[in-house]
Order: sequence, then structure tokens, then C-alpha cells
Amino acid sequence: MKKIRLSKSCLGPEEVQAVAGVLGRDFLGMGKEVEQFEHLLAQYLQLDPSKVVCVNTGTSALHLALLSLDIGPGDEVLVPSITYVASLQAISATGATPVLCDVIEGTAFLDAEDAERRVTLQTKAIMPVHYASSSVGIQQIYSLSERYNLRVIEDAAHSFGSTRDFKPVGHYGDIVCFSFDGIKNITSGEGGAIVTSDLQVLDRTRDARLLGVEKDTDRRFQGERSWLFDVTRQGFRYHMSNIMAAIGIEQLRKIDFFSKKRKSLAKLYKQCLSDCSFITFLNFEFDHLIPHIFPVRIIQNRDLVMTSLRESGIECGIHYQPNHLLTYFKTPYPLPTSELLFSQLLSLPLHPDLSEDDVLYICEKVKALLR
Ligand SMILES: *Cc1c(COP(=O)(O)O)cnc(C)c1O
Repeated sequence: MKKIRLSKSCLGPEEVQAVAGVLGRDFLGMGKEVEQFEHLLAQYLQLDPSKVVCVNTGTSALHLALLSLDIGPGDEVLVPSITYVASLQAISATGATPVLCDVIEGTAFLDAEDAERRVTLQTKAIMPVHYASSSVGIQQIYSLSERYNLRVIEDAAHSFGSTRDFKPVGHYGDIVCFSFDGIKNITSGEGGAIVTSDLQVLDRTRDARLLGVEKDTDRRFQGERSWLFDVTRQGFRYHMSNIMAAIGIEQLRKIDFFSKKRKSLAKLYKQCLSDCSFITFLNFEFDHLIPHIFPVRIIQNRDLVMTSLRESGIECGIHYQPNHLLTYFKTPYPLPTSELLFSQLLSLPLHPDLSEDDVLYICEKVKALLR
């Protein structure tokens, strides 16, 4: 039976060769490849090279961004309930409290009105999540942040390569965090990046990724180490390695191919499933975003559809189980839109190695089940 994966890394001989190159130079830690990857990312985002800081995961990017703003115990951070648990764990790792908010039904994006109701004197920041790569609605979040003097940390883990206001996502914004884990729009194996124009955040995150050793980044990029140094803040072992950066550099070269492929497959899904009365789509405009996932709403029997697709070799997923239903993040209040979407959402396979025939095959199976 044909097996179709929900998502996967898409790698070629270029990545293999790049990693072999790093191994051959016997310098695996953070050095020249990481510096180059940061520069290439900045160039892609149309930013000055100093504005990108690479780390080992998207979760660490969020964690360091929060810590660099002195967010910690006693503080509150607003976050949508529909997101990967990484967003929540990054907040709680600082000692701050994630305050879970509802989402907008059409896009699963953070609902600014619901978020506003949850603002208190302890609220320090707001973390909108680019669900399925879309950040439509971010303007309302920025105006909320201005009214209450909140910092904005955009969880852009899904949306690398997408555009907003005619610029790449990451070009505008307070602090934008990306993930390059294995299945994201581009991968560096594992990896993440913090993008901002805030000089203090840049300085602090650069040091914090290397155990807080001040200015160690500069020395590592010259192939050296620091022997006499000062540490003034909590640091972590969160830097990116040359092996990871070498993969990331090759992946970034392929972004146009990945983009075309993901966009056209998403459009094909929409076209094929549009006559199916039990399916509705979220309101995404695939010309502007590179869809990381392809969630649809199945109005009836979602679980049955999911099991049957799996039985016919088609992997599918649920993005996401609302975090306010988890033991560790449980809220005393309901979040009705998140719960409604949770009962209906089903993500169909989407990755650049999927063919048009695969999509047509999946659509036929889905339609047969719902008929
Ligand atoms: C992948 C992801 C993250 C975390 O990224 P990692 O690189 O896996 O740590 C954060 N938020 C969302 C919404 C994600 O999908």
C-alpha cells in the first residue's frame, strides 16, 4: 500500500555535501557557517545582518526572546490556545504565566478582542502565532500592544518565506521568531532564529545562546574562544552548530522551489475539494504565504475520516489540540472557538516531495469517505 506522509524533510545531495564539508574541516561548533547563515537569512529578509540571531531550536528562540525582555515570574504573556505546545513551554520556562486566549474562527489566529479581555497589570507581552503561515490579523495585535504597552513576540515558526505588506515575514515586527526544525518550510536539522531591531534584545540573545559569555559570538565567528570573560545574566547552551547552518544554507537556496511547490499543492487541494459540502477551508491567501500545513475543517465525523485515511496509508494530523485542555496549562475558563476548531480540524499531507497525483489521490479518498 502506498504510504503518504503528512510532512517530512526534503533534502538532497546538496545538503549531504555541505554537511560533509563541515565534517571535513573538523570544526563542528558555532563558527563561519553560522555567521554565513545569519547573513543569508538577513539578506533574504531584507535586513541588516546584525538583526538575525540563530539558535538551536525555534523554542529556544522564543525562550531567549522572552528572557531578553526581562519577562519572568509574576509576569503574564498572552498566547493563543491553538498552537504547538512549544509556544507555551517557552513562556512557562521563564517563570511567567502563559495566559491562553481564543482564536478567530476563519484563520485560527489570535483573537485580539479576546486577548484584550485578558490583559491585566501583570501582562508584559503578547505572542501571536502565524497559524498555517498566516499572520492576517497582526495589525489588531500591534494596536492592542500599543494601547497597553506590551511587547510583541511573533511565533513565526510556520511562516518562513511568506510575505506580509510586500516584504518577507520577519522584515517588520517587534521580535519575530522562526523555527527550522525538520519539517518546517526550510530546515537546518533543528534550529531557530530571533529577528529584531531591538539592540538590547540582539545583544542579550547573542550572549545568552552561549552560556551568557559576553561577546563570545564575535570570537567564535573568528574561529576562536573566550578565555577571560564576564557573565552578567543567565545563559543557555542554545547556539546553532556549523553542521546545522550548513544544512540551512542549502535549504535557503531552495526556498523558491519549496514555495512554488507548497503553494500550488495547497491551491490544488482547494480546487479538488471545493465541491465537497462537508469540508470548509480556513481563509488563507496562498499567493502571499508558503503554507507549512494544510488544515481543513471537516464538519462531520472528523475522527472517522482521520482513521479511515490512516488505514489507507494517508497520514494526517490535528493542528492543534488546544493547550488550555492540557493538565499543565489548564484554564478555569472555556475557549469556545478553539474547542470548536479542535473538533473539526484535519491537516492533510503537505510537503515539497508530494506530487500533484498524490494530492488528487488524497482528495478522491476524502471525497469517497464523505459521500
Ligand atoms: C515548530 C514550532 C515551534 C517550535 O519550533 P522548534 O524548532 O520545534 O523548537 C514553535 N511554535 C510553533 C507554532 C511551531 O510549529
